[in-house]
Amino acid sequence: MRARASFTKEFCVFLHLIMGKQKKGSASQNVQASKTASRSQPNANTGKPKGSDSDSVSVKQEPLDWKKLNPKTEHYEFGGPFGAFAMITLLPVLVLAFAFGCDSTGYDPLHRLYAFASDIVQGNFSWEMLSSLAASWKPSSLLWFLGFLAQIITYSIAMPGETVQGTKLRDGTRLTYKLNALSAAQTGFMISMLSHKSQGLYAPLWVYHNFPHLAVASLIVAFAVSIGVYVASFIGKPRLLALGGNTGNPIYDFMIGRELNPRIGNFDLKFFTELRPGLLGWLVIDICMAFKQYATLNRVTNSMILVVAFQAIYVLDALYNEVSILTTMDITTDGFGFMLAFGNLCWVPMMYSLQARYLADFPVDLPIISVIAIVGIEVLGLYIFRSANSEKDKFRTNPNDPSVKDLKYIETKAGSRLITSGWWGKARHINYLGDWLMSIAWCLPCGFNSVIPYFYCIYFAILLIHRERRDDDKCRKKYGEDWEKYCSTVKYRIIPGIY
Ligand code: NDP
Repeated sequence: MRARASFTKEFCVFLHLIMGKQKKGSASQNVQASKTASRSQPNANTGKPKGSDSDSVSVKQEPLDWKKLNPKTEHYEFGGPFGAFAMITLLPVLVLAFAFGCDSTGYDPLHRLYAFASDIVQGNFSWEMLSSLAASWKPSSLLWFLGFLAQIITYSIAMPGETVQGTKLRDGTRLTYKLNALSAAQTGFMISMLSHKSQGLYAPLWVYHNFPHLAVASLIVAFAVSIGVYVASFIGKPRLLALGGNTGNPIYDFMIGRELNPRIGNFDLKFFTELRPGLLGWLVIDICMAFKQYATLNRVTNSMILVVAFQAIYVLDALYNEVSILTTMDITTDGFGFMLAFGNLCWVPMMYSLQARYLADFPVDLPIISVIAIVGIEVLGLYIFRSANSEKDKFRTNPNDPSVKDLKYIETKAGSRLITSGWWGKARHINYLGDWLMSIAWCLPCGFNSVIPYFYCIYFAILLIHRERRDDDKCRKKYGEDWEKYCSTVKYRIIPGIY
């Protein structure tokens, strides 16, 4: 009751802040935006200074031809509408299977899901049983989830941050973004720790015991946001749509994302959702699971420390390097729809915290030799991941930096340069290899009694292979024969010498 009341209060404070802040925020951010626009910054893609051309944030005077700007999408990805429908229906089922099918009695989500589905098919489930099952869901979990979202939205809006410009859009403008993910997260953690101090382990244990309910809550919010942005993309003045999200097929466009950059005032829904709810929610759940282990064992095992530390490093690294997401495919190319909303509001926090959940239920004490080996894999992965991503970011934003000025590259007709030496000369997505190695290091601490905690690194390998193909398609279209030339110089996709 107390927690529920406190979140309701936080939600009211949030609404108050938003309503007061939006007016103020937009004015101050406009000032910042115009300051940034007049600052001579290097162009993120070419490395050339931004000048007086259409890099400016000001909107062009001549009327825009929206038909031309938003051409109909002719090419489907993800298996078209059928694949989109499968993603919208099956992925949530998978989240629920892992949420309800993994607990201290065993981690067998697929078996339990199969048993549940067979019961329904064989008519062993009546509507009454299904409705009483639905009624057993705790609505308070939705308040917890909304309270968490309300807090991080408030910090994102209220905290100061550097204002930067995104990549140039098809209408010639650039959007401005406020970078404060790390400071907002730090503030949020401090305030949460202080406000929960008097409650001891109440909050972490609540999260542990109500994890399946929270998973349902995150799913409800993900669907609500996806439906909201899809419907809003048809309302009001015309806006830029994602080049891949304007097929006219509602199921497909809903899934892939129709509008490129939905915003409420200056609050960019995609940019916010991309890093904060998923990554912070994941970290919060991890920490709650560590507290649960402490409550049970009166200590925290070395395996749990490794998992929480590795994943915290990953999250903090992403928040610290927030600016680099502005050039990722998610921000520059994909629309904001079910794929990104569900991915970041539900999938990441609920599925990526699987190893910490497993260790809360089945603690593992690792021998020192295993700890050393696992730390070695993590460090190698992190080193590849961070150096490769930083090399590209630095090359694109400041090509004269001593660390990248000697890199070889192809000057493309599209205006950007493609690196052909250093990390990016070893494989075309060497950064994915580092990311995948880290995912292995996060699963190994769970030992070998169950394959379920390894779901993450198996799924992640599939995601990265598919993502590399999508990016390859995008670059082939963008760079044409320059991309062919690049591929013949850098032959491997992800793993040098192998793939
Ligand atoms: P990348 O950071 O790999 O960027 C790909 C883009 O970089 C291309 O579209 C192209 O864009 C540019 N590019 C490609 N080759 C070169 C080159 N040789 N030189 C210079 N620029 C080049 O893409 P992602 O957005 O997929 O990944 C970002 C990070 O996020 C990765 O480390 C990935 O592992 C991680 N990630 C993690 C996920 C998770 O769930 N944990 C999910 C997805 C990604 P341009 O058009 O500008 O030329």
